[in-house]
Amino acid sequence: MPPTPAMPSVSSTAADDARYMRLAMQEAAAAAAADEVPIGAVMVAGGQVVARAHNLTERLTDVTAHAEMQAITAAATALGGKYLTGCTLYVTVEPCTMCAGALAWAQVGRIVYATPDAKRGYRRYAPACLHPRTTVDHGIMADEAAALMQSFFRARRQ
Ligand SMILES: [Zn+2]
Repeated sequence: MPPTPAMPSVSSTAADDARYMRLAMQEAAAAAAADEVPIGAVMVAGGQVVARAHNLTERLTDVTAHAEMQAITAAATALGGKYLTGCTLYVTVEPCTMCAGALAWAQVGRIVYATPDAKRGYRRYAPACLHPRTTVDHGIMADEAAALMQSFFRARRQ
């Protein structure tokens, strides 16, 4: 078997993770302010933010316009390559199966999500769909991300 090429480092400190997740939460708040489901995402490569995005499904009238999809496209454009092996995606809610599939195609190096999504999250339906070398962490700012989602949907039901 040929040796697999080394993955670029996607390591980061807990302080970095918290800082980038806070940026993703700002994106989620921007989505909420625009009456979009409040999910935000930030793509980081080499200690630099290369994409910031939030859910745009209402504005674009496009069910595929999830924060992660926007972040993948913007990061690939910024970096000039379709594979995001050296990138970490910070997202406020566990990706859905569509986004997890796209993150697999992009071979994103690491995914960090804040709060799980028991109804729509990829882990329920397709826990093995990510790229085998993608690492996943979760739980950073989980309470804040979940509270933002809950207050958004509570307000919608009224
Ligand atoms: Zn999604």
